[in-house]
Amino acid sequence: MLKFDPYYFQCPNCHAWLEGRNLKPELINESILYSDGKVLNDNYITTRQKMILCPSCAHTFWVEDPEKVNYTTQKPDADIYSWNTWRFYGIRFSDNRGKLALIRHYQTFLKKCVYEPKNEIYLRRLLWWAYNDLHRNHQHIRLKYFLNGFMSYGVWRNNRMMLLEGEKLFLKNLSDFTDNLHHLLTLLEKFPDEAIDTEVPEIYRELRQFDKAKSLIENSGSKSYFTNEIIRHSKWKDSRVFMVSG
Ligand SMILES: [Zn+2]
Repeated sequence: MLKFDPYYFQCPNCHAWLEGRNLKPELINESILYSDGKVLNDNYITTRQKMILCPSCAHTFWVEDPEKVNYTTQKPDADIYSWNTWRFYGIRFSDNRGKLALIRHYQTFLKKCVYEPKNEIYLRRLLWWAYNDLHRNHQHIRLKYFLNGFMSYGVWRNNRMMLLEGEKLFLKNLSDFTDNLHHLLTLLEKFPDEAIDTEVPEIYRELRQFDKAKSLIENSGSKSYFTNEIIRHSKWKDSRVFMVSG
């Protein structure tokens, strides 16, 4: 079964056609959810990439700008840049260098111009996730992930080395990570409709303001496995991103 619905859009600068893909909605339930709100299905992020760097002319544009971007679900009769040529700016995530390159892309976009709040929130959220990618699934460094047959020894060992290095890189970039979260928090508190579910308490938890994270959840009155987990990790004074379900 095909997992994705394709769509097509045109670069407003050079008119090249690009192919995009959306995960079929019925597959969202089979995905992995992380505490920062990132959802992965077979290692593909399910949030649509909205900021595009054209693979043909290097122009940057927002795919959801209906006045400027020609968008269709019908395959056009033209040469098309495949998804892999442009998604995540052509970066490969198999090592920490790729993860750092993605962080630099978002930082460059944010420095380049002033965005409307909705778009700045989008970019800062994806920058947040990109920093967290450096130590996402940190629990996989434990021997039990090899012993329970989850991975072969070679895969587990290489992954473990990447995660340990990633944790060091995360800590090296901690002040930029914190700075981005403060900016994101200010925007989300000003535009609360743009916040996703438990995003605001989770940001406080990752900023190590554990009491604030707990009180926000307790005062909201919402109770779920997800909110219980945020409270549990806050009690442990654990600020690292964690897997909620998957
Ligand atoms: Zn172009």
